[in-house]
Amino acid sequence: MPADFFSDISNQQTPPQYRYFDGSTWKPGSSGKTADVISPIDGSVVGTTPILTQEEIDGVMAAASAAQSAWELTPLNKRVGVVHLAADWIRHYLDYLVALLVREVGKSAEEAKSEIIRTADLIDYFADEVQSIQGMTLDSDNFPGFEKGRIAMIERVAYGTVLAIAPFNYPVNLTASKIAPALLMGNSVVVKPPTQGGISALHLVRIFQKAGVPAGVISTVTGNGEIIGDYVVSHPAVSMVAFTGNSDTGVAIAGKAAMKPLLFECGGNNPVVVMPDADLQVAAREIIKGAFAYSGQRCTGIKYVLTTPAIREQLVTLVLKTIPEMVHPGDPRSPETKLVGPVISEAAAKKIEEAIQTSVKNGAKCVLGGKRDKAMIEPTVLTGVIPSMPIIAKETFGPVVSFVDVASFDEAVAIINRSSYGLQASVFTKDEGSGLVFGKKLNVGTVQINGSPQRGPDHFPFLGVKRSGVGVQGVRYSLEAMSRLRPIVLNKPQ
Ligand code: NAP
Repeated sequence: MPADFFSDISNQQTPPQYRYFDGSTWKPGSSGKTADVISPIDGSVVGTTPILTQEEIDGVMAAASAAQSAWELTPLNKRVGVVHLAADWIRHYLDYLVALLVREVGKSAEEAKSEIIRTADLIDYFADEVQSIQGMTLDSDNFPGFEKGRIAMIERVAYGTVLAIAPFNYPVNLTASKIAPALLMGNSVVVKPPTQGGISALHLVRIFQKAGVPAGVISTVTGNGEIIGDYVVSHPAVSMVAFTGNSDTGVAIAGKAAMKPLLFECGGNNPVVVMPDADLQVAAREIIKGAFAYSGQRCTGIKYVLTTPAIREQLVTLVLKTIPEMVHPGDPRSPETKLVGPVISEAAAKKIEEAIQTSVKNGAKCVLGGKRDKAMIEPTVLTGVIPSMPIIAKETFGPVVSFVDVASFDEAVAIINRSSYGLQASVFTKDEGSGLVFGKKLNVGTVQINGSPQRGPDHFPFLGVKRSGVGVQGVRYSLEAMSRLRPIVLNKPQ
């Protein structure tokens, strides 16, 4: 461990007992209760994180509320400087953070490196973009019946304290994508890290602290979501909730948050439609990458492919032929492993195995894989899947792709629009015009033409509809979402 920089955040034993950050000091929890963070690679304990008591949570929230207004009054150029410095520190500790992420969430070094570098770039972009956020004025006489004389001066101001809740699969990037815009818009931020991935997220918070975020303005509340979640989300000191995670969790949190503003990125169950004129080689490679990268544990992962039986036959043959070249399941630390390693836990793997088995019992055909060994799920391809089968009725967060036959492309539209998810969809066709026309019929956040669903580039708007999310992210959109308009109206002197 880079000794001085990160030493405070744990007791530095093996395995380390990590601490929570109350806004000023890194502390062990007072209850002595902790959550184990287990490596999906070998089942070893990466470390423990404290499960906070309600009193400790109250303390963190009080500090965050008390510190917020002074931070908002700090000149923007100073806030920007702090945030840029955090990005620099992230780059400085790249190798260390990559090694931690590999062990904690089972990514390959390449995937972990891409997450960390992208995070630093994202933070810098936020800090640059915030400088172009401007207020505006409106005159009264534009509206019928009003004379000149009233002017609304409209500024963007902070909400107060933003609660940032991130998932295990991008614990650094999806924590930073909340911290940076929240801080830049003048909010204080309380981070609730995922249990798995939480150690990496705590390192990120340490980096922001070291970059100069003042006391109280950034802090953490650790503990399993099912234990502390309701208390934290419904806490009166929380002004806004920014959450990324499963749709079921999102629905539960939205209920607890009541009228607090929400920015939610939830589950995706992303379909791909392959038109008869598509380049099937391109489609096959995109499907393999989209379905199996990081073992299918990406919200933008491809989950099912809709096409006619004739195209499906050719496409599945191509996919099966190309998989051995692109996918090599194994230990993510091995340079030979490509795309598929263990999923986050054995319990998660069992759920995926069950969804495969039930779907096969109901008539789906497993043409590749389907088996589990501890947390490893073989890269799996199913055909003959129908939308009501568990493998696609709910998001399957694992390396499985399903082929669904349709009689027409109108049927594909109906299936996509009937789904309770709506993050992204892809259309493969050589005729971009018909791809555009088709894309406009789909009720999803984003349609990709001739590419797999994906989040980036990060300044594009990123959103889900239905159970896939609330609000819009993407650099400028996130800055706007983490602030509100404050009009002050100058009326005519009486
Ligand atoms: P999850 O189980 O929903 O957990 C997400 C976060 O919520 C974790 O920090 C978790 O803490 C916390 N949490 C759980 N229950 C809570 C509660 N009652 N109150 C407050 N917080 C609570 O999701 P995950 O398994 O970590 O992540 C995978 C999911 O995230 C997938 O569905 C994926 O599609 C989605 N995701 C979406 C996007 C997107 O951009 N749309 C991006 C990435 C991931 P604990 O870990 O302590 O339980």
